Amino acid sequence: MNSIFSDAQKRLVEVFRHTALTDDVQEKLKHPKLSMCVSIPVRMDDGSLKIFTGYRVQFDDTRGPTKGGIRYHPNVSLDEVTSLSFWMTIKCAVMNLPFGGAKGGVIVNPKKLSRLELERLSRGYIRAIADIIGPKRDIPAPDVYTNATIMGWMADEYAQIKRQQLPGVITGKPVHLNGSFGRESATGRGALHVLQEWIDLKKCHAEDLSIAIQGFGNAGYYFAKLAHEAGFRIVAVADSQGAIYSREGLDPTKLMQHKQEHKELGTMLYCDGSVCDLQHYHKLSGSELLELDVDVLVLAALENQIDKHNADNIKAGQILEIANGPVTSAADEILAKNGIPVLPDVLANAGGVTVSYFEWVQNRAGYYWPEEKVNARLKKCITREATAIFSLADEKKISLRTAAYLQGVNRIAGAISQQGTREYFLNT
Ligand code: NAD
Repeated sequence: MNSIFSDAQKRLVEVFRHTALTDDVQEKLKHPKLSMCVSIPVRMDDGSLKIFTGYRVQFDDTRGPTKGGIRYHPNVSLDEVTSLSFWMTIKCAVMNLPFGGAKGGVIVNPKKLSRLELERLSRGYIRAIADIIGPKRDIPAPDVYTNATIMGWMADEYAQIKRQQLPGVITGKPVHLNGSFGRESATGRGALHVLQEWIDLKKCHAEDLSIAIQGFGNAGYYFAKLAHEAGFRIVAVADSQGAIYSREGLDPTKLMQHKQEHKELGTMLYCDGSVCDLQHYHKLSGSELLELDVDVLVLAALENQIDKHNADNIKAGQILEIANGPVTSAADEILAKNGIPVLPDVLANAGGVTVSYFEWVQNRAGYYWPEEKVNARLKKCITREATAIFSLADEKKISLRTAAYLQGVNRIAGAISQQGTREYFLNT
């Protein structure tokens, strides 16, 4: 079987070559601390009862309470959730946030549920995992096909179970329900800071660069909007229904307006409304978008989009991973051989968890920051870590991914070692 988790773990082999880690640390990074599988009964609108399967995996909590989003998707599996929880562990350490990693998921196509069914499912999921989450234990957040509204329902359900307001149990909440300003755009904004830092290093300018984006949800849309405002030319965008292309460039805000007019989650098609009529562009297939000759290919949908079968066809100058795990380890090798740098997920999409951390801090302090402060702190944190990773990669002549992992793993290893290792106990 093709396991996402075993593929994710392959990255560690390369990392272990560049840092001397004790067996204890290596062993600990191979196994999730806790994996929970739950059945969630939901009363459907037609009166029937449907049971959904959900997961929550807490990978490692050595550096602090675990943190990670909740995904609603028909292809959710324990293997996928475990991999995502592993990447969250690395990512929180890469950003030096005082968190370990976790992830959750429910096997469901949310586009097929009514709003009330979605609310019952979301509340049911929280009831099922309430015993293992909490502001000091494990803090969920949004991921694919979950959003601020769903986080608001979940925080409310948790408050009802615990009979007290504990907004720090979940992040990505609506601003009026103790959410943080700037959280919604944080993942896209952080990714843009990373890209900007990278092109500055390469002495390139936004105005000269074309971008194709796979995925036009929370992360992909905000990245597209902010990149467009910064002067980049967005030439192609894809969502799960298809892709569009315009050599002159697309306006992400207009595309989103078009989507909003067709509001239900299920209608994501671009080409059935006014925006398509207004702009000159061609329709593309999802794979054609991936193989466009652009300066930057942005992956902001799901994992395993570039693998050994299509990696050789990629013509982009560089890849920005906003999705988690969109490039497999086999594809990494092919891209490296072809000289295509990959700005890795554990850095490029870390803006979301960074502002989630700010939200948790604000919830616990009961003191809320203005949006400018959130955005400025995000820029400072992510730019600092990106610069360190770029220098490390250059210094050791390793890929950006290996450098990012090295930075994260060294911090996790420090924490694990200071709790005591074999060497410590044997006094060697
Ligand atoms: P979302 O549900 O808001 O959007 C997902 C988008 O991907 C949608 O536009 C959907 O149509 C598109 N999509 C799905 N399958 C596709 C396919 N085969 N081809 C092209 N497009 C496809 O989800 P999101 O929150 O934007 O998350 C996207 C990715 O970013 C995920 O990998 C997620 O784990 C990662 N991420 C998100 C955040 C966050 O804060 N939202 C943070 C870090 C990482």
